Amino acid sequence: MTLVRRHFDALIIGAGGAGLNAALQLANANLRVAVVSKVFPTRSHTVAAQGGVNAALANVLPDNWHWHMFDTVKGSDYLGDQDAIEFMCREAIPTVYELEHNGVPFSRLDNGRIYQRAFGGQSQNFGGAQAARTCAAADRTGHAILHTLYQQNIRARTHFFDEYFAVDLIADDEGAILGALVLEIETGEPLLIESKTTLLATGGCGQVFRTTSNAHINTGDGMAMALRAGVPLMDMEFFQFHPTGIAGKGMLITEGVRGEGGYLVNKDGERFMERYAPNAKDLASRDVVSRAIVTEVKEGRGCGPEGDHVMLKVDHLGEEIVSKRLPGIRESSQIFAGVDPVVEPIPVFPTAHYVMGGIPTNRYGRVVVPVQHGPEEVIPGLYAAGECACVSVHGANRLGGNSLLDILVFGRAAGQDIIEFLKENPNHRPMDEAAVEKVMSRLTRWEEKGEGISVQDLRAEFRKVMEDHAGVFRTDEIMAEGVEKVKEIREKLKDLRLQDQSSVFNTARVEALELENLVDIGMSIVLSALNRQESRGAHSRPDYPDRDDKNWMKHSLYFYEEDRVEYKPVRTKPLFVETFPPKERVY
Ligand SMILES: Cc1cc2nc3c(=O)[nH]c(=O)nc-3n(C[C@H](O)[C@H](O)[C@H](O)COP(=O)(O)OP(=O)(O)OC[C@H]3O[C@@H](n4cnc5c(N)ncnc54)[C@H](O)[C@@H]3O)c2cc1C
Repeated sequence: MTLVRRHFDALIIGAGGAGLNAALQLANANLRVAVVSKVFPTRSHTVAAQGGVNAALANVLPDNWHWHMFDTVKGSDYLGDQDAIEFMCREAIPTVYELEHNGVPFSRLDNGRIYQRAFGGQSQNFGGAQAARTCAAADRTGHAILHTLYQQNIRARTHFFDEYFAVDLIADDEGAILGALVLEIETGEPLLIESKTTLLATGGCGQVFRTTSNAHINTGDGMAMALRAGVPLMDMEFFQFHPTGIAGKGMLITEGVRGEGGYLVNKDGERFMERYAPNAKDLASRDVVSRAIVTEVKEGRGCGPEGDHVMLKVDHLGEEIVSKRLPGIRESSQIFAGVDPVVEPIPVFPTAHYVMGGIPTNRYGRVVVPVQHGPEEVIPGLYAAGECACVSVHGANRLGGNSLLDILVFGRAAGQDIIEFLKENPNHRPMDEAAVEKVMSRLTRWEEKGEGISVQDLRAEFRKVMEDHAGVFRTDEIMAEGVEKVKEIREKLKDLRLQDQSSVFNTARVEALELENLVDIGMSIVLSALNRQESRGAHSRPDYPDRDDKNWMKHSLYFYEEDRVEYKPVRTKPLFVETFPPKERVY
């Protein structure tokens, strides 16, 4: 294979909200910026975000960023870093106005201000009413944001590599990142992008589980690339199961449905969330609602012939509200569940939705790694932002509407920091040819011939293992077995062979590379989960039912090398306000 080379100031891998908001900063600063995406940019998963983005604009009810910060710290079950959360909640307000000025068509209140709805985990302290903090464009907020950012990038002349698959980062001896090897999916030709800075913005990894709200492309490629470059993954045991996936299918029914007044019932028609969360009821945080649904089903109060789901009631809201505020979920319910929510309830069950963990970064998007007996160090030239990163603002459980916020705030912060970095580091470092060769071997490996295991079969086997061994409720025994099974699957990866070895648009090869990434991430999830002997946020263990702040208020770090897990302290000191000390989390 001939290896073509291109040179840029900044390489951004991923064209979702995080990647595009970073790219926009750089292109507007007249830097040469390349955005690589394995699908056309506006097909990135950000396009599927429904409910909205949080900012304490106080357009509907009194609110301020300090309350937003408290709700986020509490929602994180006190594992989020309070300095990062403070930064995000303060930045939320200008971020949403910037989106508005860039052209995002938000829904409007009668007085012309941006429409805001209630979402899970938002406090009720304000005169008894629930805060309404989630800014929405009907139930297609992500669609509105992504298209706007893409158009602004086109205007700013960002260079797009559409349908290119990033294979691996290139690192030199000192661990500095020099760019990445990417594959043009259409031709099968490799391309080396040499870059002074590289930002990973590759999104989530919901495809590790069989039932998920995530797109087929959410395979955690960037996280696995970081692992292979020696970067640990942080807090991977915390995986969010969204309470309302369409039963048996996994497609998402936004929390905005409950924000608009929808509620859950069991087979007796009982509004059961009143028992689990007497105050917040259906708008308790997601981990709480998911556990309640699974418990209802386990205890025999599930709906349907198999008793394997519960119902989400919407019909009492009336056709007008549903058509105006929730048109997308009406359509999804009709297509995937065969029900019209205006007249009948939607069958729902928790679905794998969001990874709280990821590549450890500081507030400026720089990737940080621990150093023995010293403070953390940044990896020269490497940044991460969006769902693939862990700042950490979500801790053990993310609040709805805080991810769109996270990707925009930290995408922007990374872009701004890259501009500063480039002022001090104006030159390319010399390319490390040995490193390039090593990464190329990950591509040539698929030319091996002969009988072997098929990618589809192993992918299905793996995702079932993850669902059975790292789901909503986890015990020592279940997870230990999970670790063994993922190890076996990791061995089997060596026997994968491609039946189709053609170069043009060979999606089988892309799926093989994705499966390798998925399995590496799966190991980080099960192993970090097995080691954490407490229940906190989304990590729920019947054998250790309580949160244990004395021993476990710390972040996990999983290293690829030797499957090692280490820990680092939670940052509890904000910059401007006082620390929120840990309290029991009740809704
Ligand atoms: C159905 C659904 C609804 C949601 N609703 C909300 C909501 O209402 N509010 C909220 O706050 N959050 C919501 N979320 C979560 C939120 O949308 C995501 O966390 C967020 O959009 C992720 O953005 P991102 O920029 O990090 O990544 P993504 O938007 O996932 O983009 C990832 C990008 O990386 C590229 N990429 C990945 N791997 C490679 C590779 N190997 N080579 C090249 N390119 C690669 C992809 O092509 C893509 O461009 C929702 C999530 C889902 C799944």
